[in-house]
Amino acid sequence: MQLLKEMILPKGRVDSEDILKVDGFLNHQIDVKLLNEIGKEFKVRYKNESVTKILTIEASGIAVACIAAQYFEVPVIFAKKTESKNLDAENYESQVYSFTKDKYYKIRVSKRYLNSADHVLIIDDFLANGSAVLGLKEIVDQANAKLVGVGIVIEKGFQQGGNLLRDKGLRVDSLAIIKSMKPGNIVFESK
Ligand code: 5GP
Repeated sequence: MQLLKEMILPKGRVDSEDILKVDGFLNHQIDVKLLNEIGKEFKVRYKNESVTKILTIEASGIAVACIAAQYFEVPVIFAKKTESKNLDAENYESQVYSFTKDKYYKIRVSKRYLNSADHVLIIDDFLANGSAVLGLKEIVDQANAKLVGVGIVIEKGFQQGGNLLRDKGLRVDSLAIIKSMKPGNIVFESK
């Protein structure tokens, strides 16, 4: 997606070797106009699928998922990372390894909001090693729902997540795929 790449190039900051900071438009300050185009693009790509729910993970997936959901006209469910009295007792649960925080955490979704009749599109901001998406897929599987596909804003193609998910037969649509990056030099894959 050209518009997204044009935003990443001047505003993305490569701090360490494998973390891209996009706080200026996606992860802290949010460019709603850009997110609107991203949401529209996911709808174009999945226009032939009957999506009934969009599933994401808190926190940074929520904004993208909500804007996309306006085009799909379906609810968004976000997997919660913390236990809380607000959450129902009956949950689907799985484990995710956080690439940015270097630790495991549990995610949960109330059984009330996902069931075997659902056709789910997973949406997230980044795809690195694939743990977040696999954790969400596990929740979709526990609900016996159908996973229609995975929509990613930025895939780091030099990490293993993309291959891991595609090798499992999952449909993965990434709007920008980074081939390599170092401070001051971000290179995209051509597709
Ligand atoms: P994965 O589970 O695929 O290894 O990592 C994906 C998750 O980690 C995303 O939900 C995202 O929040 C976070 N993440 C992974 N890599 C990056 C990165 O380079 N920059 C930012 N901002 N977040 C990342």
